[in-house]
Amino acid sequence: MILFTVTPVAAITLVPLYGFTIGYSAYDWAAFVLMMGFCGISITAGYHRLWSHKTYKAHPALRAIFALGGACALQNDVFHWASDHRRHHQHVDDNDRDPYSAGRGFWFSHIGWILRTYPSSTRDFSNIKDLQQDPILRFQHKHYLALVLIMNIAVPAFLGYLGGSVIAGLLLSGLLRLVLSQHVTWLINSIAHMWGRQTYSDKSSARDNPVLALFTYGEGYHNYHHTFQWDYRNGIRWWHFDPTKWLIMACSWVGLTRDLKRCSPLMIETARLEMQYRHAAERCDALANAETLRARLEAEYQDLKHSLELWAKHRQDWYDAKTSELHDQIHERWEKLALRDSYKQARYQLKLKQQRWRELMQGFSNLRPEAY
Ligand SMILES: [Zn+2]
Ligand SMILES: [Zn+2]
Repeated sequence: MILFTVTPVAAITLVPLYGFTIGYSAYDWAAFVLMMGFCGISITAGYHRLWSHKTYKAHPALRAIFALGGACALQNDVFHWASDHRRHHQHVDDNDRDPYSAGRGFWFSHIGWILRTYPSSTRDFSNIKDLQQDPILRFQHKHYLALVLIMNIAVPAFLGYLGGSVIAGLLLSGLLRLVLSQHVTWLINSIAHMWGRQTYSDKSSARDNPVLALFTYGEGYHNYHHTFQWDYRNGIRWWHFDPTKWLIMACSWVGLTRDLKRCSPLMIETARLEMQYRHAAERCDALANAETLRARLEAEYQDLKHSLELWAKHRQDWYDAKTSELHDQIHERWEKLALRDSYKQARYQLKLKQQRWRELMQGFSNLRPEAY
């Protein structure tokens, strides 16, 4: 409690005080941004997507960097963090077993769960036996306090020294960075379980919140994450802001990461379609005499689902054919071309039906009992 009270109070008083009296240089701010990114990405790419969920494998050098960054973020060692987080996914929204259940309110899920010992946060490492095999994580666990002090005092002081002011380094790269990076992470437990869309599932309170993704290195797509937690991505579209995903992917090009897991597009699209269908059906059911409309919805839904499955099948066949050894026999080439054309046709058909579905959904969202 002392730590989480003193650091924010010190940050909102000492940081501006020094800024107004002496001032920070551009270098001090650059070091601050660098340290923010280092802590944040170590938590999202390391603690979260690598260790808690095992969505990919990482080179020991990268694991060591993430272990240092996690100690810098002062969010406990990987064993505690991943153990809590795995329980969060397993018992999400269960107030007695989810360590930071959003059902207990904003304050509890944001920071309250850390301030006191609740039954839901009892230490139990039985769910992280795999992580306990990693010598890097055992080292971090054993020397956690020393690493915290080095990363939070020695490193910011050194960065400050390089820029000409040890105090400026300690205040910006040390104190302000620590407080901000902690609260940013906690926003995922609080806001990402309260505000946003339930795009893929409503089985948990997790929400997709693109605005939050901007501050959390891509972790704002939390509904997707809770639905497909083994996927190394959180934002799956190219326009989704997910720097954690970009980093993991870029690292795979130079051999620092491998075995990146992705959920199949069929599963993703089926989940999304089902949510849209259920919402539209609920609206329909609320209307009187809407049997024809309901029948139309049902038919379109089944039709689109069928097209999706067909598209996925042809896509797989075409990818298999593409990666298979090409023999010089003419009929094998012929077969390949036929598979490619079937895939293209299925993709075109799917696009048309998706467009019709979108228009139908738009109609349903404008549906009013009096207008019908
Ligand atoms: Zn997670
Ligand atoms: Zn969550």
